[in-house]
Amino acid sequence: MLLCESITKKEKKKKKIEYRYIFFLFFKKRRFYMLVIKCQKCKRKIFKYVKIGKGKLWRCWKDRIIEDFSIHDGKNIKCICGNLIGFDEEKCIKLKQHSFITSGVKT
Ligand SMILES: [Zn+2]
Repeated sequence: MLLCESITKKEKKKKKIEYRYIFFLFFKKRRFYMLVIKCQKCKRKIFKYVKIGKGKLWRCWKDRIIEDFSIHDGKNIKCICGNLIGFDEEKCIKLKQHSFITSGVKT
C-alpha cells in the first residue's frame, strides 16, 4: 500500500490528464479502453478517449478526452472536413451515430 501511495503522489504532480486517468483506473482495477475516435468521411483523428467498460459509445465525457482535434462550432462538434460528429452538452459530448468510427486497444 505504501508503494502505491508514493506512486500516486508522484503522478499527481504531473499535469497530463492521460497519466492521471491511467493510474487512477489501474489502482481501481477497472477495465478500461483507450479509444481513438475518427471521422468516418476523412478518417482523421477527432478524439483520443478513455472508455470504461464495454458497450456502445453514445457519449464522450469531457474529462476523459485526452486529445481533442475537433472543431467546436457553437454547440456542434465537427471534424476538420465539416462532418458533424456530435453535440456539446455541458459535461459530455453526445455523439452522432454513423458519423464516426472507433479503433482502440484493450488495456
Ligand atoms: Zn472528417
